[in-house]
Amino acid sequence: MAFELPKLTYAYNALEPHIDARTMEIHHTKHHQAYITNLNNATAGTDAEQLSIEDICKNISKYPMPVRNNGGGHYNHTLFWSIMGPGKGGNPSGKLAEAITNDLGGLDKFKEEFNKAATTRFGSGWAWLIVKDGKLAVCSTPNQDNPLMDIAEVKGTPVLGIDVWEHAYYLHYQNRRPDYCAAFWNVINWDEVSRRYEAAL
Ligand code: MN
Repeated sequence: MAFELPKLTYAYNALEPHIDARTMEIHHTKHHQAYITNLNNATAGTDAEQLSIEDICKNISKYPMPVRNNGGGHYNHTLFWSIMGPGKGGNPSGKLAEAITNDLGGLDKFKEEFNKAATTRFGSGWAWLIVKDGKLAVCSTPNQDNPLMDIAEVKGTPVLGIDVWEHAYYLHYQNRRPDYCAAFWNVINWDEVSRRYEAAL
């Protein structure tokens, strides 16, 4: 099949106590796998089978809704797993830290803006840190949309994202999305966010 579930580089329990093992396992093996299965079904026998998920997202208006929902789901979760890790958190450094200061008014203001985007996104969706016209910006998207998509309200290249669908936190946090969003800062892999930032410039 064209699209495959990426392996995690850490164990399902590696992000505890911030994100619990059961949530991680179900999220990866059931939710992400379902997006991939449905994306493969939706693109079978079409040109999209040969394309990268990034290229599909960038031209998503040309595809039917199942490709948008499941292709977005595949891209978003692949990014999500990569920007988290055990023993991470702390503060960003280098060029990324400078850009957070210059473009977003510093780390504290950025955290506040990102948490607000994540907690106020109504229903299911994602909050993002993106590179837009060479600068960092914060935005959010509904469902499995993302800022790479040509239909996005705010377009850019994602460098950090948080999944705020209830399946991402409900087992451990129930309705307390703000607590999950606060805990997320403890598992961010800033080296990977920096790598994505410099690649996006
Ligand atoms: Mn999810």
